Amino acid sequence: MKIICIGRNYAEHAKEMNSAIPTEPVFFLKPDTALIKDNQPFYYPDFSKEIHHEVELVLKISKPGKNIDSKYAHKYYDEIGIGIDFTARDIQSKCKEKGLPWEKAKAFDGSAPIGQFIDKKKLIDLDNINFHLTINGIVIQKGNTKDLLFTFDAVIAYVSKFITLKTGDLIFTGTPEGVGPVRIGDKLEAFIENEKLLNFEIK
Ligand code: MG
Repeated sequence: MKIICIGRNYAEHAKEMNSAIPTEPVFFLKPDTALIKDNQPFYYPDFSKEIHHEVELVLKISKPGKNIDSKYAHKYYDEIGIGIDFTARDIQSKCKEKGLPWEKAKAFDGSAPIGQFIDKKKLIDLDNINFHLTINGIVIQKGNTKDLLFTFDAVIAYVSKFITLKTGDLIFTGTPEGVGPVRIGDKLEAFIENEKLLNFEIK
């Protein structure tokens, strides 16, 4: 399986990163070795001094597809979850300065913790999903899918032009504003609406 991540999909986050608002989706990949499941801890890596959290809704692809039309894209995912797109911001800044790829900053081991998935039918309106991240019990990031620059369906259509989607692939759909550093000892909890789906510690 593969993990596809959408960058700059919320305008306020693009602004806080001093990035342009994209006119088409920006995406990058993480390998399966990035996954953390079952609320296992994240071990702070020694190659970075600035690991940032990016809380994101995650789509689980339910059947293979290529060149998917956006009007049929909803048929390619049944479950939605929440995850963290951990980013070594110090390394990413250096990559960006030099115009180099971001993989070192984005695709490292443990950079993609994911929580439980829920049936999307449980969510009344996919264009109005609230989600948030708390650190040590304090709300740090809050988002709503009404602010997506590219909807779930638009993202699936776009990505599948370039890369065949397979069952079990995950799409991280972008982070809202409020990204920032995590520290050893932090407890992260992520929620869709008021349901806690992810809960782990930085070690
Ligand atoms: Mg992200």
